[in-house]
Amino acid sequence: MNQPWAFIATCDLVAHVRGRSGPFPKVIESGEGVGWVPADLAMSAFGGIADGNAFGALGDLRLVPDAQAMAIFPPTYADGASTRFYLAHQRNIDGSPWAQCPRTFLDNAIEALDRDFDIQVMVSFEHEFALSHADGSKIGGLPFGFDAYRNVDQFSQELLLILNENGFDPETFLPEYGSGQFEVTLGPAPARVAADRAIMLREIVRDTAKRFQLVATFAPLLGPDLVGNGVHVHLSLWRNGSPITYADSRPGNLSAEAESACAGILEHARAIVALTASSQISFFRLQPHRWSAGGICVAKQNREALLRICPQITIKSNDVTKTFNIEYRAADATANPWIVLGTLIHAMREGLSGKLTIDHIVDEELEGSANVVSMPTTLIEALEALDKDETVKSWFDPVLLKTFIEIRTNEAQELDSLTPEERCARYVSVY
Ligand code: GLU
Ligand code: MG
Repeated sequence: MNQPWAFIATCDLVAHVRGRSGPFPKVIESGEGVGWVPADLAMSAFGGIADGNAFGALGDLRLVPDAQAMAIFPPTYADGASTRFYLAHQRNIDGSPWAQCPRTFLDNAIEALDRDFDIQVMVSFEHEFALSHADGSKIGGLPFGFDAYRNVDQFSQELLLILNENGFDPETFLPEYGSGQFEVTLGPAPARVAADRAIMLREIVRDTAKRFQLVATFAPLLGPDLVGNGVHVHLSLWRNGSPITYADSRPGNLSAEAESACAGILEHARAIVALTASSQISFFRLQPHRWSAGGICVAKQNREALLRICPQITIKSNDVTKTFNIEYRAADATANPWIVLGTLIHAMREGLSGKLTIDHIVDEELEGSANVVSMPTTLIEALEALDKDETVKSWFDPVLLKTFIEIRTNEAQELDSLTPEERCARYVSVY
C-alpha cells in the first residue's frame, strides 16, 4: 500500500472545494495545517481570481484541519492508497480565526443562537443531482423508476458503502423526477456536522460517479425548462437535548419559538436567497410550478413554499416532537453550505429576538394567494435586496460580504451575453 495523503480543504464563496495535501499523519498531527492565500476567497465559479478584490497579492493563512470533519475516499487505482479528506478553518498564521472564513461564519451563527436563546439546531440536507454516462449518453429509466435505480446500481452501492463507512448516516437514495436525476438524503445532525457533511457529500458523489464512468452534476438546472436540482435544508430547534419545534395546539403545530424563527427567515427572505441560491441560473429554478420554492411563505406540506412544514409521521406512533421539522427549499449547490446554514440560523435568531409572528400559515395553493410574497426573479434582484437589508449585512464580516457580492455580480456580467441554455451548460461544467 502506498503512503496516504491527507487533503485539507475549504469550501469557498462559490461553493467550490479547494485545498492542499500533505503526508498523513504528519500533516494532521502537526496542528499547523497547510498554507493558504487570502485572495483564494475571491475565486470565481469558472476560474480566475476576481480583479480588484480586497486581498490582492498580500498575506498568508493556514488551512487548519478539523479532525472531526473527515471522510476517507477509496483509492482510485489498484493498490493505491485511500485519501483522507479534512475540512479546515482558515486561520491567521498565529492560529486566530480569519474574519472572512466561511466556516467561522457558521460557527459564529451557531454560537449566537446558543448564547442568546440556548437553542441548538439539528439539520438534514437533501441533495438532488443528475448523472450521465461519461460519454454523454443518458442513464435512462422512468421518473422514480426501479429501472433508473438499477441502471446506477454499482454507483449507488459504492456510495452507500462510503457514506456508511464515514458515519454520514445516509437515509435514502432515490431516482428522482428528472432524467438521470437522483437524490440522496442524510439523517439529522448538529448544524455544523450537517453542513460539513453536505460539503463532503458532493465531493463523494462526484468522485464515486467518476470511478464508475459516470458524471454527476449538482448544477441547479441542466437546461432552463428541465427539472431543477435543489438542496433542501431541514431544520429543527432543540434546547438541552429536548425538541422545541412542535406544539400541539398552535397553528401549523409550530411552537411560539419555531414560529418566530420561521418569521425571521420570511422577513429577510428576498435577501437571504442570494446567499442560498447564488448563481445566474438559480432563479430559473425558483419559480412557481417547479416544486422548488415558488413563493415566500410558510406552508403546510406544500412543495412550492420557501418554508414547508413537513408532515408528522404517526404510523408507528412515533414521538412527533422529535421528528417534526421545517424544510427550507430555496437552496442549491452553487451556495456554500456553511454560508447557507449560518444565514438561516442568523435569520432565525433575528426572528426570535423580535418575537416575530406569522400572519398566515398557507394551507391553500400558492398561486393567487394573498399570503405569498414573490421571489426575486434574478440573482441581481436578490443581490440588490441583500444590499438594502442592513440586518442581513450585519451578520457578515464586511469584507467577506463585499467579496461575495463582487464575485457574483462579475459572474452575472460574464454570462450576460449567453442564452439561458448556454448559462446552464456553463454551470453544469463546474458544479
Ligand atoms: N427538484 C425540486 C427542486 O428543485 C424538488 C422536488 C422535491 O420536492 O423533491 O427543488
Ligand atoms: Mg427531491
